[in-house]
Parts: sequence; structure tokens; C-alpha cells
Amino acid sequence: MKTNETKRPHILVTNDDGVAAPGLLALAQAMRQVGDVSIVAPDRNWSGGGHVKTLNRPLRVQEFTLDDDSTALCSDGAPSDCVALALLGLLPRKVDLVVSGINSMANLGHDVTYSGTVTAAMEAIIWGIPGIAVSLDGAQRHETEMDYTTAARIARLIVRRALQHKLSKGILLNVNVPYLPANEIRGILNTRQGLRVYRDRLDKRQDPRGRDYYWIGGDFPTGKPEKGTDIGALAEGYVSITPLQLDLTAYPALAGLQNWHWQPAEPAPLSPPIIANAASTALAPA
Ligand code: MN
Repeated sequence: MKTNETKRPHILVTNDDGVAAPGLLALAQAMRQVGDVSIVAPDRNWSGGGHVKTLNRPLRVQEFTLDDDSTALCSDGAPSDCVALALLGLLPRKVDLVVSGINSMANLGHDVTYSGTVTAAMEAIIWGIPGIAVSLDGAQRHETEMDYTTAARIARLIVRRALQHKLSKGILLNVNVPYLPANEIRGILNTRQGLRVYRDRLDKRQDPRGRDYYWIGGDFPTGKPEKGTDIGALAEGYVSITPLQLDLTAYPALAGLQNWHWQPAEPAPLSPPIIANAASTALAPA
């Protein structure tokens, strides 16, 4: 059945917990049941590293052997760099779908732009390839003490469905799975982003040389478990799927700005001369 084999989708698997993380292996194994898998993942943990484009240093790529003896590629770049590397030519074959995870912590509400897991999927849609981020709400469990079996099965189900239905261009899916036994998961809900509540505190300490340094510490974030949101879904034992787009324009605010009444030919203030850093509105139309 060679013709069938060539039709198998080519899935790029990446993550932000690093190439050695157990969640990556679980995801890769689940994806191999859906398509042909290539792995390009960061060589270290980039959790909270956000959407990165590395421009000021070279990126190195190495082979890495996963715990099931399969081969992955890893780079010293961020998860989004790994996706860019893969899609811009590191992999000879065209990628059909990018799947990122399985992250060892939930990525809910405002987490999405901090998250290396989600921003890897964001990078995919920049290059016109659909992306799916999968996170498991392990709370504060250590990644090596977590069971990814159920989350991997759910990822497989969602990826199959996404390939069937074809995601719209420019849309990525942010999937979060509650840390529950399979028979206690109540289902899958389509959701919007909820409101994360961050409880960060700045810790000021002194290094051995007597100089101050700072650490962003505090407590684990919580969130408002509103109905219809990702946070609400997880709180009730559901898997959440939030479709995201990179157009962050606040459309209602755009309408509000109409009341600022910029004149089309609003003149640049000519005197006094514009100085650097002045809060200038001197964007004279051409
Ligand atoms: Mn992570």
C-alpha cells in the first residue's frame, strides 16, 4: 500500500520543556499513529520563553536519541526557532501540521504569549502551516512524575479531527487537558481564553558579592473559572480547545479611537523642532 503511505501527513512535533522531556516522547509516539513524524525541539527548557526569533547568534542543530531509541533533532534556539528552522528548510519534506507539547503545565488565558508551547504553534501559522499546542494541567507536579498517556490519546483524537476538518488558515488550537484519569474526563469543550490571575512577587536578594539581584517568584497562578472559558472547562474536568489567531487588534477599542478625531491632514508640529523621545503625534501623512 505504498500510495497510502505517501499520503500520510507529515507532522512536526516540538515542545518547550526540551527534547528530553517525557511529554515530547508521549506526543511523538501518539502522532506516529496518525502520520510521519519529525521532531525538532529545543535542547533545554524554554518554559515561559515566549515567542522568540533568534537573530543575533547562529543556531546549532544536533541529533538526539529519545528514550524509545528514535531520533530527534534539537537546537539551541527557542521552540519558535525550532519551528522556523524546520519549516524554512531544515526538513526536506513539507510539513502538514505542527503539534507542540505535551507541556507539563496548563497554558490558559494570558499564558499564551508567555508559553513556548503555544508560541511554537503561533510560529507555525506565520509560515502558513496549522499548529496545535497541547498542555497537561499537571499543576506543580514534576514533569518526570506525570502520566502523559491520557493527554497523548486526546492529542491524537484532536489531531485526527483537525486533519479531517482542515483548520482555517491563520488559526491555531490551544488544547489543555485536565490531570485526571481517562474515565474522569468529562469531554471536550470549545472555549475562549479565560482570565489568569498571576500572583507573582518580586524577590530581592543579595549575591555573594553583596550585589542585589531579583527573582520573579510568588505563587502558582490561579484563574477565574468562568463558563465558556478554558479555565472554566478545566475546573469542571473537561478538555478545552481554544482557537487562537495572531491578530491581537482590539476591535471595539478601534471603534473607540474614532472619537479621537484625527484629521486626515493633521499637521506635524513644526516649532519647536521635534526632539527624540518626545511623545510625538507628528505622523504627518505623506
Ligand atoms: Mn513548558
